[in-house]
Amino acid sequence: MNQSDAVTDAAADAALTRKRLTITGVVQGVGFRPYVYALAMRYGLAGHVGNDSEGVFIEIEGPADTLETFRHSLLTEAPPLAHIEQISIEAQQPLGEDHFVIVHSETKAKGNTFISPDVCVCRDCLAETLNLSDRRYRYPFTNCTNCGPRFTIIQDIPYDRPFTSMASFPMCPECQKEYDDPLNRRFHAQPNACPVCGPQVWLEMAGESDEVQAERNDALLAVQRLLAGGKVVAIKGLGGFHLACDAANDDALELLRKRKGRVEKPFALMALDLETVRHFAEVSDYEAMLLTSRERPIVLLKKKNGSPLSHLVAPGNQMIGAMLPYTPLHYLLLLDLPLPVKALVMTSGNYSDEPIVKSNEEARQHLARLADAFLFHNRDIVARCDDSVIRMWRGSELPVRRSRGYAPFPVKLPFDTPPVLAVGGELKSTFCLTKEKFAYLSQHIGDMENLETLAAFETAVRHYEHIFRVEPQLIACDMHPNYLSSRWALEQAAQTPVIQVQHHHAHIAAVMAEHQLTGVQPVIGFAFDGTGYGTDGAIWGGEVMLADYAQFERVAHLKYIPLPGGDAAIKRPYRLALAHLWAAGIPWDSRLAPVKVCPQIEQSVLLKQLENKINTIPTSSMGRLFDAVASLAGVRQTITYEGQAAIELEALTVTGAEGAYSFHYSGGEIDAAPVIQSVVEDVLKGCSPAIIGARFHDAVADLILQVGVDLRKRTSINQIALSGGVFQNVTLLELAVRRLENAGFEALTHNKVPPNDGGLALGQAVIAAGKSS
Ligand SMILES: [Zn+2]
Ligand SMILES: [Zn+2]
Repeated sequence: MNQSDAVTDAAADAALTRKRLTITGVVQGVGFRPYVYALAMRYGLAGHVGNDSEGVFIEIEGPADTLETFRHSLLTEAPPLAHIEQISIEAQQPLGEDHFVIVHSETKAKGNTFISPDVCVCRDCLAETLNLSDRRYRYPFTNCTNCGPRFTIIQDIPYDRPFTSMASFPMCPECQKEYDDPLNRRFHAQPNACPVCGPQVWLEMAGESDEVQAERNDALLAVQRLLAGGKVVAIKGLGGFHLACDAANDDALELLRKRKGRVEKPFALMALDLETVRHFAEVSDYEAMLLTSRERPIVLLKKKNGSPLSHLVAPGNQMIGAMLPYTPLHYLLLLDLPLPVKALVMTSGNYSDEPIVKSNEEARQHLARLADAFLFHNRDIVARCDDSVIRMWRGSELPVRRSRGYAPFPVKLPFDTPPVLAVGGELKSTFCLTKEKFAYLSQHIGDMENLETLAAFETAVRHYEHIFRVEPQLIACDMHPNYLSSRWALEQAAQTPVIQVQHHHAHIAAVMAEHQLTGVQPVIGFAFDGTGYGTDGAIWGGEVMLADYAQFERVAHLKYIPLPGGDAAIKRPYRLALAHLWAAGIPWDSRLAPVKVCPQIEQSVLLKQLENKINTIPTSSMGRLFDAVASLAGVRQTITYEGQAAIELEALTVTGAEGAYSFHYSGGEIDAAPVIQSVVEDVLKGCSPAIIGARFHDAVADLILQVGVDLRKRTSINQIALSGGVFQNVTLLELAVRRLENAGFEALTHNKVPPNDGGLALGQAVIAAGKSS
């Protein structure tokens, strides 16, 4: 029995007991205080409830047994968006109060509250928006305690209207009445708004500076007409601008691709409802659940034959990314869109690799070349936040990009950490701040290859440090000397110590952390990806390691081949194929696709480079091996976006073919030469890419099993962690995990953070935390 219980028992006879409950978790902006108020009313208890920067505090007074019932109900009946992390209870002197109130927020210096991610519009709010007789009829910013913007409008904690970008919209008397009524769905709904007092939309045409063409509902109708007429419209949403166009219109898509400088990379879609999605994609029950979840991510789905959409949405790709509307604004645009298929391309509003645009001014400057018109609104976006992208695997989520709807909800760690800032890698960058047992992994920042993205990164880091009240004592970065993120980290070294973390070690640590491994036992880690800086200066990417958080031992890796011309080769898989052929001692037969496509002069230069090791970097990259095989199989010779060749090879692969290829594994070295040899033989025999792809995927899965079994014999370790961008390939993931499970291994794969570099910062953070203690 602890002290507070003792006090309770002693006080029971005195009839009145008072307790102070401190609750942490996602308890602000989710209707928690009105919920507590209603509970206190139900049990006839006195006291108060309020928000502070740590969460919610309750002082409650009444008979001891009623208080106990209250405490029990508090846990079991919490509102849908609430997530209680911890409740601490202290006994207090009863004050003899006779009523219960909601008190004003308290600001404390220290804070440990979670901030809710943005939540899609709820059923009730949508119904009001579509109800002709409701005062919010066709109002695009309708929201309540159960739904609406959160993270993207929050400037500071506690989560209260003055600390959000709703501060500039004083509520009208009717909204205020809802806000003040504890029994109303909008009681203390901070973004509460209506057509009278809240934000509004308007339309401007690109190039006609600041001239308002239409407002409110007229603007929405005008946008629908523009979209139906094949125009590209920049639409301000929750976390940034989208560029939208009719997904069935080839001309509109061609225009958008040309303007955006995006040749082939797939565009995401927003479709009115599940039924519409089913016109162009296969949707499993799990995928349907994810599409309709309150996070509303983009879900990667299998394309259907005979799709009514333009082939330019996702050319050469068998997957298509789709999401459902998540704000009333999106519903109003899609519902009576005058088009046969109610589906719009909705791609991030940015030029090429720059961050998603979030302010009206930025949009006028940066998107005028891309869009024909703008649908603006006047609620500021505080934190930019791209849409999340998720692939389903075995009925659970395999994140490809963890952003809106998920960030900034933390990943719970199995141990306390000092405050660490991990800055991530280069591509698909995110960062991570740790505080006690929580790792706050940021939303998607982008490819950190330009100063605009670096600036967005810096702003986001400062924002997280502020809203989560973290002052990092340690910074973790990648070992790559040329990553902008690493350079940024090293510039801070005078104030804050910096730890450089090996790329693949960070990948493995990220899976370990999301599975709450304490790190007392090492795991066998397979980190397969495209590029990561090795401790020997080579480009790693086909790595097997024994790893815990403190250290790793590289126990096996793909045999190095020379990567000619460094990064340039990555855009031209045929060069990788030629390098792999050369390394395997196989002649460049002119019947092979990569040889055919490589000009004679380039071949002679390349050969000299390889033979004399001029401008080549040794690499053990598994991602590059996928590129080489895709090229040899005739699937893809040049690429226009990262991972394209491997994605297309996976898409063509029909598993279950006999005659798997095999690697040569001995002494910690994995030689791909026998695989390359077999691929060439198959190609010359006229084998289809589907068969070659299947035999290759099987070979990689067999390799994982073989190396795993070998290492288990030597170390008795039975946990195998799979990470790195290559494991976004669910065909490989399934083949590998099935083999491992059949052999009695425990296979750890990603479910909360991406296997690609979007999850890297989490791994860096826990490694740095381990090193500092
Ligand atoms: Zn709602
Ligand atoms: Zn109002």
